[in-house]
Order: sequence, then structure tokens, then C-alpha cells
Amino acid sequence: MTSSSDSEPSSFVRTLAKGYAGMILLLLGLVPAFAITYLYFFQAPSLRFEHHGFHEIAIGISLLQSGFIAYVTYHCYLQTREQFLRWLTLGFLGFTVIYGLHGAFTRFSHDHIMLFTLYGPASRLVMASCLLIGLLAYGRLEQPALKTRPLRFWLVWLGAFVAIDALVYLLAFSEWAGASRWVMEIAAMSILLGCGFIIVVRRIRSPLMTIYALSVLFFSQSSLAFLLGSAWSHTWWLAHASFATGFMALSYGVIQAFLTTGSFSRVYSQSEMMEQIRAEKARTDDALLELQRAHEALEVAAATDSLTGCANRREFEARGRAEVERVKRSGAPLSFVTIDLDHFKQINDDHGHRAGDEVLRAFVKLVKTTLRPSDLVGRIGGEEFALVLPDTPLEGAVMIAERLRRLTESEVVTLSGAKIRFTVSLGVAQYGPDGGTYESVIEAADSRMYRAKQAGRNQVTTP
Ligand code: GH3
Ligand code: MG
Ligand code: MG
Repeated sequence: MTSSSDSEPSSFVRTLAKGYAGMILLLLGLVPAFAITYLYFFQAPSLRFEHHGFHEIAIGISLLQSGFIAYVTYHCYLQTREQFLRWLTLGFLGFTVIYGLHGAFTRFSHDHIMLFTLYGPASRLVMASCLLIGLLAYGRLEQPALKTRPLRFWLVWLGAFVAIDALVYLLAFSEWAGASRWVMEIAAMSILLGCGFIIVVRRIRSPLMTIYALSVLFFSQSSLAFLLGSAWSHTWWLAHASFATGFMALSYGVIQAFLTTGSFSRVYSQSEMMEQIRAEKARTDDALLELQRAHEALEVAAATDSLTGCANRREFEARGRAEVERVKRSGAPLSFVTIDLDHFKQINDDHGHRAGDEVLRAFVKLVKTTLRPSDLVGRIGGEEFALVLPDTPLEGAVMIAERLRRLTESEVVTLSGAKIRFTVSLGVAQYGPDGGTYESVIEAADSRMYRAKQAGRNQVTTP
């Protein structure tokens, strides 16, 4: 069914619209880069906003948020068993455990800047790694092995994150502290960009994964801003904001998954849904049409005599009764003719049952050539037929019956070289003079038809 195809936009416009949407997404994803560039060129290096309490509150809120999102993601994971969600949960968990110390050491930002700083890139690197591993496992479900000892799995990872905390602590007091900050931040940034790249290359197109791609883009730019800015500078704050924005977007995606299918891959965009609905509707329409056709065919079959193709007894009676009802109101004349093939048994005996069938078919063909479209012929018994003739008074019906008798008499059915001739006896009756119901008129016609038999067959009997 393509009834709406005329109003649909051309494929060129669709492609253009898709390209536009992609460009808007990319520009949106690069908003932090514009801000970073702006600050890089126009920020006075001396400008700083150092406020420990504000930083601690901000970190506290983001920890509550990431803890909550880790928990919600974990629930999505339990629901769907997607490996991707396991790694996303670990990413949020690792971030919460490690980034917490960045907040906790806020007041060390003067005495021991590295102790304060290093937990930032460490938390981003851990989260980025988990996001990458999850992305590589995108679309895969959990192996059964993990289900046997789930608690141990999570405890081991929690232990690993705490160990990373300790490691970062040691690193902060080592001579590699400064270098490690660069290494971790650049690694995090590269991994996050890699995530975005994988999504584009693997053409992962679920709407939640679009949000995911935007988030990793924001995360990677936040790493860039952290590298370019020093503690408390505006670029440094911008880095926080960029990360927080990405984080909020990703958490929004997780909540959408949680509230719907629990899956990151099975939440559909509106356009996908419209596409599905359209395809579904086309299928339904086709099925409906087919059903209608089948129904009509069934109706025809139920009303038709399979051997001769004329109306069967049920259909004939229904139509006969309907005509009687009609003339009751209109007062128009209505006649019936009943017909019985003469010595038909003999034809079967002499030429075989198949020849008998052929004669029945030839007879119906003959009848159809003499009738008007409004008339109806029905097979009401083995070799018995009847005609309903609307708007026909008795004289007209007698003429039709007589014409049919003569035509039949001169008809020859040739089968396997044998020439078969046959005749019919007919009785005519009219609604009104011969009764006021379908049954009574048919009975009158029938009894006249039997009188024709008794009188020697091959004749029409009238009242
Ligand atoms: P009459 O002139 O008195 O009507 O004699 P008849 O032989 O036509 O009547 P009878 O009722 O004795 O026989 C009717 C025969 O019609 C018997 C039956 O086997 C045959 N018949 C009924 N239906 C069919 C059919 O569908 N095909 C064939 N070939 N024969 C049929
Ligand atoms: Mg008979
Ligand atoms: Mg007969």
C-alpha cells in the first residue's frame, strides 16, 4: 500500500535532512571546543576562581549523581544482560570511587597540588577505559559463566578501583606525578575520541548511542581543557562543566533505557518507530486486502454450485425469498420456473457419469444464454434447476420456458465421439396467483413440472 507515497519527500531531501541532523549533532558535540578556544585566546592567565567549598559541593553532587547512575545502570544490566551495560556500570562505579578523592583532597590544592589533581585524570582514564571495553562488546550478551559468581565479580572490581586510589596516592608523591598527569589525561582523551570514532565507523545508530557519542565527545574535550588549564583557572572550571554536561547527557540516556527496555540498543528513535509503524501498516493493509479477497472468494464459493457454476440451492432460495419480499412492496410481477432433465438416469447409464456431468454443464450454459442479467438460475437438486424471473408476468415466463425447452431439444453434447441429446420438462408459476410465499410458488411450479413429466416430458406446463 503506497497511498501516501505522493506526499512523501524525495530521497534527496531526506538525505539532506539526515546530513543536516548529523552536522547539528557534531556542532553540538564541539561546543566545549569553541569555548576552550575562546578562553585560550581571550582569558587573562591571572584570572582564577578559587573556592574550595564550591568545588567540594560540586564534586559531592556529581558523586551522588554518578553513584545513583551506576546503580541504575546496574539494574539495566541485570534486566538485559548486555555486556555493554556491565562495563558502563563499572565505568560509573570506578569514576565514583576515584573521583571522590579529587573532591576529598580539595584543601590540599596548595600544599600538595598533585594529590589534589591526579585523581581527576585517573578517574577519567578508568571511566574512558570501561566505556571503550563496553563499546567493543556492544550488542553482545553476557556469557553464562559470569552469572554463577556475580557478587565476587563486583567486589573484585571495587577492590581494583580502591587499589588504583592507593596507586594514584603513591604516584602523587613520586617524581612522575607531573608526567603521569599528562599521560593519563592524553590517554583518556584518546580513548574517548576512539569511542566516538568506533560509533561512527560501526554505524551504531540507536538514539541512546547518539547521546553516548555526544557524551564521550564532551568527556574528551574536558580532558583537553584540563590539560590546557591550571587549577582554579576558568579553562579548568570549563573542563569540569564540559565533563558534567557529558555526564548528565549520558545519565539521561541511562535513565531512558531504565524507564523503557533497559537496553541501550533497543530504544528506538521516533523516525525508526515511524518507519516500523509504516512497514507494519503496509503489512496489515496487504493482509487485510488478501483477507477481503479470500472472504469474497469464499462467499462466491459458498453460493455457487461447483459442477455447473450456477447458484446453488442455498443461494437460489435466498435470492428467491428476497425477490418475493421485494415484489411484496413493489407489486411488480415475479415468476418462477422449475426444470427437471428427462430420463437423466438413462444418460448416465448409457454414456457414463462424466457424460451426465457434461450434460448438466451444457444445460446451464444454455440457460445462461437465454436469461437477462436480473434473472437467476439455480441448481436445486441433482438434475433439477429453477429460474427466478423478476419483473416477469406468467406469459413472459412461459415464453422463456418454451424457448429454453426448444433450445435444449436441439442441443447436442459431444463426448468421446458420442452425440448426446436431451430434453427437459418445465413448470411455470407466478407470485400472487400461485401463492404469496416463496415455498408456495415453487411448489406450484414443481407440481406443474411433474404434470409435464406425466404428460410425456419435453414440455412446459402452465396453470
Ligand atoms: P425423469 O425423466 O423422470 O426425471 O427421470 P430421471 O432419470 O431424470 O430421474 P431420476 O430421479 O430417476 O434420476 C436422476 C438421476 O440423476 C439419478 C442420479 O444418479 C443422477 N444425478 C444426480 N446428480 C447428478 C450429477 O451431479 N451428475 C450426474 N452425472 N448424475 C447425477
Ligand atoms: Mg429429478
Ligand atoms: Mg429427471
